[in-house]
Amino acid sequence: MPAPLQPIEVREFTRPELAPGSMLLRTVRSEVCGTDVHLWHGRLAGVPYPIIPGHVSAGTVMELRGRVSSIDGNPVRAGDRVAFFDVHRTCGRCRACIVHRTPTRCPSRRVYGITDSAGEGLFGGWSQAIYLEPGVVTAVLPDAVSFDDYIGGGCGLITAVHILERAALRPGDSVLVQGIGAVGLSVIALARLGGAAAVLAIGAPDQRLALARGMGADHVYDLPNTTARDRLDAVRSLTHGEGVDVVIEAAGSSRAFEEGLMLVRDGGRYVVAGHYTDAGPATINVHEQINRKHLEIRGCWGSEPGHFVQALSLLNRHVVDVPWKQIGQRTYPLDGLNEALDAAATMRITKALVDPWM
Ligand SMILES: [Zn+2]
Ligand SMILES: [Zn+2]
Repeated sequence: MPAPLQPIEVREFTRPELAPGSMLLRTVRSEVCGTDVHLWHGRLAGVPYPIIPGHVSAGTVMELRGRVSSIDGNPVRAGDRVAFFDVHRTCGRCRACIVHRTPTRCPSRRVYGITDSAGEGLFGGWSQAIYLEPGVVTAVLPDAVSFDDYIGGGCGLITAVHILERAALRPGDSVLVQGIGAVGLSVIALARLGGAAAVLAIGAPDQRLALARGMGADHVYDLPNTTARDRLDAVRSLTHGEGVDVVIEAAGSSRAFEEGLMLVRDGGRYVVAGHYTDAGPATINVHEQINRKHLEIRGCWGSEPGHFVQALSLLNRHVVDVPWKQIGQRTYPLDGLNEALDAAATMRITKALVDPWM
């Protein structure tokens, strides 16, 4: 991706010299996610274009130098099927990391495919090989989990694990999810697995609404074909007139945030996770909607290695009963990525997968 709004180009790179403790991955699958669309539209600050996008990716180990261990402490070997955590260089010694214990706000943190420049090498998954520098968190994919399963969940699943942690879900809670892209769909599945008594979702289009049901939503509301009043009435009729215990915003719209404040019950919790870029201001009545409502509002930024590991455990156990693979709808080669970005930007497909060897 040479620059925002420019076509994706296929370029040749020299094979990297491996530093001790590093490895080279032969990419099997990467993905086109909402962040890649934002990157392409130039809506993220401080991105060092040109970049190789594809922040969550997986492959087989081509070559490694010295002893490299996975997150469970076992040595990684050539030929292993490996997934890696895209965030690296979190410092572990700044105020964000160790005083506030918010490592996703560490200023040193870098992310494959987003904040790593192509000028530094193969730091992204839209490439036939990925350089995993020393210190990158890796895990061998469980046998039960195919590459398509893993990338079907992808960054949306890892983000959803963090969101559910922030939501402090209790068994029996009612949960409403705003937005049914890859993040919202995984939130639905995890709320269901986490013991929610009712899972509601708002989104579009029809094919995603069907997938939302497949992921575990009990009630889905078609965004363009219902009004906010219809949705408020429907939610209240299901919740003793109160509103839901937990709302998760995964839509990236200020209007969705305003609506979510109406749909959550007094004393409920609202996790805002969809505003990865600036969607502009929202209008709220602080007295009515926060203070008197006794509402808890929490942001959720990025993810930590623990969320990546939990995502793999969830896939290992639940890949048989949750259709993560169906989120990844179509696989594109490197020279089809302009088309893939366009399909993602216009919501014609839920998620495009990337096979750089196709
Ligand atoms: Zn730090
Ligand atoms: Zn992503």
